[in-house]
Amino acid sequence: MDRRVRIRLTPVAVVAALGLAASAAGQPPANEPTPPVFLKAARTLLKWDEPAEPAHVLGPIYFAGTKGLGSYLITGSDGHVLLNSGMPGSGPLIEASVKKLGFEPSDVKLLLCGHAHVDHVGGHAHLKKATGAKVAAMREEKELLESGGKLDFQYAGVKEFEFDPVKVDVVFRDEDEVKRGDIALTARLTPGHTRGSTSYVLRVNDGGKTYTVVFPDGTGVNPGYRVAGNPSYPGIGDDFRRTFRVLESLRPDVWLPAHNEVHGLDAKLARAKKDGAKAWADPDGYRKWVALQKGRFEAAAGKE
Ligand SMILES: [Zn+2]
Repeated sequence: MDRRVRIRLTPVAVVAALGLAASAAGQPPANEPTPPVFLKAARTLLKWDEPAEPAHVLGPIYFAGTKGLGSYLITGSDGHVLLNSGMPGSGPLIEASVKKLGFEPSDVKLLLCGHAHVDHVGGHAHLKKATGAKVAAMREEKELLESGGKLDFQYAGVKEFEFDPVKVDVVFRDEDEVKRGDIALTARLTPGHTRGSTSYVLRVNDGGKTYTVVFPDGTGVNPGYRVAGNPSYPGIGDDFRRTFRVLESLRPDVWLPAHNEVHGLDAKLARAKKDGAKAWADPDGYRKWVALQKGRFEAAAGKE
């Protein structure tokens, strides 16, 4: 990595760039980091691989991810659901977190993802083997997950973006309920970032109060994505527009995105120690974030 790239890629710059527009030509300018350099910088600066303390969130939901990446365990009467598995190599960390929270990895029965990029499904193959869970995915994400990232519309052929492929056992569609025992997540197709990016909606109870929890996904226009002229894939612009319509229609009390810095996970965890479940309520934060992401998309589309 040359010095200029090292200086430019501060955590703030990397976070910002996760939603930045592609250049007019659809190619990064000469001083823009290539996808592997960008990935490596994000991985290091945002601590994607660093172990984190697992913690109760609210109701049946637990944080079991790494310092930078959100993985959530949702516990139920007939086994548990695990959403997102971090980077390759993070599977054992997540497995250890499940144990530390007091649950048996073998009781994880369903493995889900927000989208099949290396930073959210890198541990899927390990966790499927270690827990015996079935892998469930949105119909439009099945091929990408089963290809280990080789069919990615943007990153195909870039080995740093590949992950161990997993067979998808259960396929669901937009608005389906993904059920396991008393857990019922509504899956919403929110494509663009990948073709089958999925947001989940879950109603939970904590201390006699009901909360609507959304695990949002699919909004990020990565560096190099072309969303208007000469699109990265046909229909990508309409897919992103659909995603923003869907996310704007949701009214969560609590939102839990897959990148921890996006919703200030550490601050919320700290507040939850004294305030409990209400520390997680952040409807304004959600609305502002959706508006910000939509603005970034529109800027990207406008620049092309
Ligand atoms: Zn991604």
